[in-house]
Amino acid sequence: MRRAALVAVALLLAACAAEEEAAPPASPSTTGTTTAVATTTTTTAPLPALPGAVPTPDPRGLVTPTGVVVPVVGTAAEGLRVRTPCGSSAVVAGGTPLFGATVVLDPGHGGDEPGALGANGLREADLNLAVAQRAADRLRAAGATVVLTRTTDVRVTLTTRALLAKRLGAGALVSVHHTADPDGPSDRPGTEAWYRVDDPPSRRLAGLVQEEVAGTFAAYDGVAWQADRDAGAKSRRRAGGDDYYGVLRDAGVPAAISEGLFLSNPPEAALLARPDVQQAEADALARAVARFLTTDDAGSGFVDAYPRREAAGPGGGSAGCVDPPLTLPR
Ligand SMILES: [Zn+2]
Repeated sequence: MRRAALVAVALLLAACAAEEEAAPPASPSTTGTTTAVATTTTTTAPLPALPGAVPTPDPRGLVTPTGVVVPVVGTAAEGLRVRTPCGSSAVVAGGTPLFGATVVLDPGHGGDEPGALGANGLREADLNLAVAQRAADRLRAAGATVVLTRTTDVRVTLTTRALLAKRLGAGALVSVHHTADPDGPSDRPGTEAWYRVDDPPSRRLAGLVQEEVAGTFAAYDGVAWQADRDAGAKSRRRAGGDDYYGVLRDAGVPAAISEGLFLSNPPEAALLARPDVQQAEADALARAVARFLTTDDAGSGFVDAYPRREAAGPGGGSAGCVDPPLTLPR
């Protein structure tokens, strides 16, 4: 039974930053051995002061009366015209309008799209949200106006996520993910960061994310890491030459996807289940964003990605998507 359950979990593993089209199931991943990991004590230096958003003349985003974050695309007599999480058009009255953002953080997956799954039961969608919320807290404490693309376990299309960042004029969009299906064992964390093709600011953002997140995880000794052969900061084109990943393709602002660790690797899943480790990763992401906004630091860890023919994990599209309620029942 245990073996059958493990196989089932492995078959459910979906590699990470979802592309728009459905993909075949990811192949089962190898499992590592569990190793005792020393707790790393980190002193968290305060971030530099960050600018709040310069208010836009009209609302560009909305926290609906039910707490769902949506991009605003216009006005109507009855309220604001929004793009729904599933990508439809709707008019919503009430709620809290948003007038710009310094940073948009995008917790990947959600709802019936859980993303990668750890053998310990950790769902990527939940982990992404926890880390993004901790990073948002840090950035807000430094003065930034931070908006999350989702604040609950709800499904959101990649186009709606990207549109929110674009409409809010975010200075940076960071999509928070963790991944699966590595190439094999590694002597260091397999952290990855993807950037928008042909966009130097996005490349610099990804390099800073890579530098901070990889450096943070490397401080945990005794972990049987796994990685892809081309771990690092990189980009991926689709057949037409533009960005493979929908959230980067449509963002229109400096954007990067952070793939923190391999959730499919049990020792890494055990690490990621720890609140102190989630906080350390969030602090790293917050430092990367702060450095992107306040310095000319170049970032590091850039690699040329090897060609990928296999699709990324499924999800991110609108097929079968059911919107959450956007207004309260009357
Ligand atoms: Zn993912």
